[in-house]
Amino acid sequence: MTTVPEFRPTRDRLAPELTTREEIVLLARALWNEGYDDHLSGHITVNLGDGTFLCNPWLLTWEEFGPEDVIRIDLEGNVLEGDWPAPLGIPIHLELHKARPGVGWAVHGHTHWGSVWSAMKRVPPLHDQTGAGGGGRLVLVDEYGGGVSNVASAKDAIERLGDADMAILAHHGVLLTAKNVNAAYWRAVSLEWRCRLALLAETGGGGAPVPQVVHDTFGRSDGTGFVGYWETAVRRELRRYPELAESIGTAASSAG
Ligand SMILES: [Zn+2]
Repeated sequence: MTTVPEFRPTRDRLAPELTTREEIVLLARALWNEGYDDHLSGHITVNLGDGTFLCNPWLLTWEEFGPEDVIRIDLEGNVLEGDWPAPLGIPIHLELHKARPGVGWAVHGHTHWGSVWSAMKRVPPLHDQTGAGGGGRLVLVDEYGGGVSNVASAKDAIERLGDADMAILAHHGVLLTAKNVNAAYWRAVSLEWRCRLALLAETGGGGAPVPQVVHDTFGRSDGTGFVGYWETAVRRELRRYPELAESIGTAASSAG
């Protein structure tokens, strides 16, 4: 039985302070409930700025790994720190970080609704503001030149991605970039929302895409502007996993 009191948010302090490893864990658990839950698939990488990257471990699901399981890898995928191997499909992240050193966070998953558009090899039309919320530009990337561990195929996919922020990967889920964890969460959720709504609208007769001004306005956003959105996910996941809250030490944080 845990003795950790629930974190109580205030207007100025919406979530406890987190380390980057804790942010990765909470992002993974939060996204697990948002359609990013294809068993052992999916990766999250965070650029530490020194040629190394934090990454979720291979062989554990996004809902079960903890901060101590997060691994540190280099640009060749070698594990520098941690007890777990790097995910098999990590080459696409490595090529992304090599080509775009300014990318802070990258997320890939075989999501429920993103995978449908991935199968159709189409970019889902944008039907509302929620789907646009995370900002950035979404493109279709046909990268299926080889398996997920194929470096040449990963390099080719990143060349096709160019400077876009998000991609529907043909036959292979979604990939997105973000500046920080707040943006990664908002962008990932918005993208999956967009994919779901577009499919439902299409099956309902098509609907109408949003006016161009919505694309223009939200498209310029880097996804970091929604204060409170990510923090709601942090609080929810800490309530759902009291043992994680205990290990993170939110008891001390909530008392401060
Ligand atoms: Zn994959």
